[in-house]
Amino acid sequence: MLLKEVLVTRLENKMFNQARLKLTSWYLLVIMFISLCFSALLYRVITLEVLRATQFQKQRIERQFQARNFPPPLVFYDQEIIDEVKKRVLLSLGLVNGVILITAGGLGYILAGKTLKPIKVMLDEQNRFISDSSHELRTPLTSLKTSTEVALLDKTMTIKEARALIKENLKDINRIQTLSDELLVLAQFQKPNTKNKFIKVSLKKILEKSIRDISSQAKHKNIKINLSPKQYFLNGLEDDLNKLFVIILDNAIKYSPEKSTISIKTSKTGNCVAIKIKDQGVGIDQKDIPHIFDRFYRADQSRTNSQINGYGLGLSIAKKIVELHKGQISVSSEVAKGSEFIIKLPK
Ligand code: ADP
Repeated sequence: MLLKEVLVTRLENKMFNQARLKLTSWYLLVIMFISLCFSALLYRVITLEVLRATQFQKQRIERQFQARNFPPPLVFYDQEIIDEVKKRVLLSLGLVNGVILITAGGLGYILAGKTLKPIKVMLDEQNRFISDSSHELRTPLTSLKTSTEVALLDKTMTIKEARALIKENLKDINRIQTLSDELLVLAQFQKPNTKNKFIKVSLKKILEKSIRDISSQAKHKNIKINLSPKQYFLNGLEDDLNKLFVIILDNAIKYSPEKSTISIKTSKTGNCVAIKIKDQGVGIDQKDIPHIFDRFYRADQSRTNSQINGYGLGLSIAKKIVELHKGQISVSSEVAKGSEFIIKLPK
């Protein structure tokens, strides 16, 4: 980890602890305010009751003395005992409040940590996202900057060479644009969105549209897509589900040889609909399978093959869409034989 990242992490931890202590203090303040008010009330009620009991006793003794025609005694009760009772009540209430203070402090601290944890996780995730994105953007931008600077210094550059350079630079710009577009899509799925309106959608219709969307890529490689869907309806977001299938199908085309076949099957499993997208492509190494849904992860063979474009963002977007629909995505694959992506979505 870079020194800068270590410092940022430390600063974040410090801020998290400060916020946690602040929240604990607020919890404590509220609890102690209620507890002290309640104790004061209790103390008042108890002392009043003691006073009432002694008055009652005084009247009873007076009546008994009057009945026997004796003069009433001058002292009915011992003030010292009453003061002692008051002192003991005060002490007990103080003790109870002390216990409440310690317990509420401890529990409040734990509760504050639990309350703030999701916010910390989200902030950590956001920071990681920003640092990963800027890291990925830096490479094409640096190459663009260097080649432009070198060209500017070259006084003998011909128009033909300048055109070739602009052409190269345009490729880099397109790459940056694709990357920023994908980052934007991913960022949209990162934040919790409450505005999503899930509606009843036809899976068959969405799959057909997804196939239409990537038909030119498939045609380019002479790849056949077989679709045999049954009519299933889901509660979901049509555009996002379309995006999900386009990502999986686009990968299936990208990582498949020419003239191969991709098959799409749908079936019902329990309370879910399973969509299986199978290709006859290069397959995924077992060691890569646990990571392919991670942001910016690309298996070695795709990274080293400059023919296959990508930034390792597609499957992380796909996973976010599946999670948004409370579904699951998994893959089974064999190198050089093909891959099968299985998406399960609740009906
Ligand atoms: P990329 O832009 O690199 O395709 P993805 O997130 O879509 O990024 O995929 C991540 C990695 O998973 C790819 O780089 C590739 O190595 C692997 N992968 C995804 N789909 C397939 C597939 N159908 N066949 C083989 N490998 C795949």
